[in-house]
Amino acid sequence: MNAADDKTIVQNYFNSTGFDRWRRIYGDGEVNKVQLDIRNGHQQTVDTVISWLKADDNLAGLSICDAGCGVGSLSIPLAQAGAKLYASDISEKMVGEAKDKAQEVLGNNHNLTFAVQDLESLSGKYHTVICLDVLIHYPQEKAAEMINHLSSLSESRLIISFAPKTPCLSLLKKIGSLFPGPSKTTRAYLHREADIVKILESCGFSIERKAMTKTRFYYSRILEATRKSA
Ligand code: SAM
Repeated sequence: MNAADDKTIVQNYFNSTGFDRWRRIYGDGEVNKVQLDIRNGHQQTVDTVISWLKADDNLAGLSICDAGCGVGSLSIPLAQAGAKLYASDISEKMVGEAKDKAQEVLGNNHNLTFAVQDLESLSGKYHTVICLDVLIHYPQEKAAEMINHLSSLSESRLIISFAPKTPCLSLLKKIGSLFPGPSKTTRAYLHREADIVKILESCGFSIERKAMTKTRFYYSRILEATRKSA
């Protein structure tokens, strides 16, 4: 399968069955045990990133690009905290849901702009570029291209998360107990941390902070990289 196929499959998925599944997981209604575990894990990832940004104490007015924003789980609280958000996603349905949620939480907040756009076609410059739990949908070569592009949009900082390729996770994936249920309709790719770090460094970034979210069914390595000259 080539990268273009991966992208079309991912886009179709997040505009159909994937949308229904992930809207539920990222929402607050009733879900099954596996989905609840993933919801809690994902929330920990979001909370970690928010805590890093808040700790820097410069969130007010900070320009942030949230690439692959999903239903706005990160963008909405960051806009609420005063940052200037440009949030985009390849899925029209996810963006539609994000807009509805933002309207509920923020009203007509002018700090938050949404767009239906794949991250490969994003342009402009942002202080911070964030891309959470998107790389899992793409193979290594494509993930490298994506990181390269995201880094070109970032003036100062890039925060990304991915499912790390560890022997334990590779085994879980093989026996099928990871990414259970309908999510199997898209492939899940694991990435070696050393490879991701190498790409970031080749783009002129160095790792500043790291975290790992690990629940039963949700694994996400979070890296914050800053420009070496920043
Ligand atoms: N980042 C969000 C979060 O953590 O709440 C959503 C994560 S969800 C697992 C993955 C999202 O990435 C989906 O909303 C999907 O539509 C989006 N996506 C996948 N490929 C993309 C691409 N090439 N460009 C932009 N968004 C993409």
